Amino acid sequence: MSSPKIFLCSICNINSGTCNEDCKFCSQSVKYAADIERYKQKPIEDIIKEAKAAEASGALGFCLVTAQKGLTDKTINFVKEVAQAVKAEVPRLRLIACNGTATLAQLLELKAAGIKAYNHNLESSKRYYEEICTTHSWQERYETCLNVNKAGMVLITGGIFGMGENQDDRISMLQALATLNPTSVPINFYHHNKALPLKANELTTDEALDLIRLSKKIIPNADRIMVAGGREMMFKERQAEIFEAGANAIVVGNYLTTRGREKSKDLEMLKNLGLHIAKNPEDK
Ligand code: SF4
Repeated sequence: MSSPKIFLCSICNINSGTCNEDCKFCSQSVKYAADIERYKQKPIEDIIKEAKAAEASGALGFCLVTAQKGLTDKTINFVKEVAQAVKAEVPRLRLIACNGTATLAQLLELKAAGIKAYNHNLESSKRYYEEICTTHSWQERYETCLNVNKAGMVLITGGIFGMGENQDDRISMLQALATLNPTSVPINFYHHNKALPLKANELTTDEALDLIRLSKKIIPNADRIMVAGGREMMFKERQAEIFEAGANAIVVGNYLTTRGREKSKDLEMLKNLGLHIAKNPEDK
């Protein structure tokens, strides 16, 4: 039997820290004075450099992220421009967009521009979401995910653990995610920033590993359980255990507003574990 393949994804913040929404877990909201880099549009040549570095480290997915509530005509045009430039220079990368709530028509426009997958997280349970965001609803998030499926794009949707939610909320979120039949489920662990109104993440590493197992159990049909934001903080020297717990994808390099560890450390870890890197999106 061949060893499991691990899918590597890299994320690129093509616009940062300018969102007017009030999600309490998000340092990109302008409502909180988190000390992060803020800009309207990253220069295309910088994005190409990041895409080349992502490919060189074995990433297959390259996610174009904008910090905003939802797609606008201006964002669609920028994402399309970026997608075209990345495709021309680094054609092997699979392009993912993550630009907030989206209508079916908007998603079809991105799809026609070569974007294969769309990431939009439910973030939490429907009940708890009302406590962490007042400017838009969980239902809008859920409907965007339905639109991704209707558009025939690959759906990537997951959430965040450790924001003060209870175990019933976690189960409820995972059950809601399962109803959407996502291809990939990004599991994030809340990374506290003192400018944000939430308390620091109180999950232990063992509890976090159990949540990966629970995600896999409740969403068995997803091709990938991806450990994304907060991985280094949550698992420290126990990184390798996430794969035993059921994860088969990770984000490599930096996150949206926090630094990841050196890509070379992740590549060395995978090699030491005898795990191969997925070379095409069909690799499980
Ligand atoms: S809508 Fe997205 S970018 Fe804006 S504050 Fe919420 S999570 Fe952050």
